[in-house]
Amino acid sequence: MLGYDFGPGHPMAPSRLHLTMSLVRSLGLLDAPGVELVDPDPASDSELELVHDERYVAAVRSASEKGTTDPLRGLGTEDDPVFPGMHDAAARIFHGSYAAAGAVWAGEVEHAVNIAGGMHHARRDAASGFCIYNDAAAAVRRLLDDGATRVAYVDVDAHHGDGVESVFWNDPRVLTVSVHQSGHSLFPGTGFPTDTGGPRAEGSAVNVALPRHTDGAGFLRAFDAVVPAALRAFAPEAIVSQHGCDSHAQDPLTDLHVGVDAQRIAVERVHALAHELSEGRWVALGGGGYAVIDVVPRAWANVVAEVVHRPLDPDTPLPAAWRREVAEGAGEDPPRRMGDHPVTFRPWSQGYDPADDLDRSVLATRREVFPLLGLDPYLD
Ligand SMILES: [Zn+2]
Ligand SMILES: [Zn+2]
Repeated sequence: MLGYDFGPGHPMAPSRLHLTMSLVRSLGLLDAPGVELVDPDPASDSELELVHDERYVAAVRSASEKGTTDPLRGLGTEDDPVFPGMHDAAARIFHGSYAAAGAVWAGEVEHAVNIAGGMHHARRDAASGFCIYNDAAAAVRRLLDDGATRVAYVDVDAHHGDGVESVFWNDPRVLTVSVHQSGHSLFPGTGFPTDTGGPRAEGSAVNVALPRHTDGAGFLRAFDAVVPAALRAFAPEAIVSQHGCDSHAQDPLTDLHVGVDAQRIAVERVHALAHELSEGRWVALGGGGYAVIDVVPRAWANVVAEVVHRPLDPDTPLPAAWRREVAEGAGEDPPRRMGDHPVTFRPWSQGYDPADDLDRSVLATRREVFPLLGLDPYLD
């Protein structure tokens, strides 16, 4: 999966995965009982074509083998340059999430995590926003094909989960919920409260468009106001979640000001919802995240820690061996503790302020989609 590498200078550096797994190992998270580390093969063409157009898969293969660019399919663009081995690396990530969903639905495992996954921008027929094959859509599709009748997809990446939403736009079996920085100020420019699903699936898409500079308290307040109620109304049999950590204040690509602690609380809440609503069936994925030393390893170690039922206190010191590895490799002073910005938030149930930017954004989402889910925008 480290072969997913757009080259020097590209924000999607494989070191973010390497440093995360190194931290996960040094925290002993893989030694928790029942944890199994799986090495997936690349997905076959027929698996990829469950989500993608066959001409697109052929174009990725040709880009990968011959360097052929195909800008109309997003290949060879500034965001998605072509590189040798691109097909295999992307297909391996895809298969990781696809197999994870299969294992969860079959009851072989309760939860599964693929931090290399979360490629939520990839479209049926095009690469987009650093994403080649959409493993998040693959996980949802696997659950449906194996027999689930209702699957919830929860995406807390700073960017709208547009690719996953587009694949299931008109499918009432899938509720996609995305909490992101507004498309008015950030790529991909979509994901507004009025986008609530296709004609056969009204109310199956939920979009919370956060104002720029929303902090951890605001992010959690928005999550609290929309996600639990929407999921409870939908009653999913399984949850797939995308934990892009580019909402962090230090992330170079976005304008949100969320901290690692708030990101961890969002993971905790998704985990609790999986147990409350879906008999624990939960597939967690990575996603965006470009502060590769200060943020990504901690944010995703917290995701793994939740998945293996070993949640980490924010005061947990980062292991000296890991800090040394980072200092020697990157010449930067790594963080010292798991947490960074302790956060409390005011639950939506305590009332809202119609003059506040964040509350107006949240209320817009509740007004548009709650009635379609059988919920009251003001009372639920
Ligand atoms: Zn659990
Ligand atoms: Zn992102």
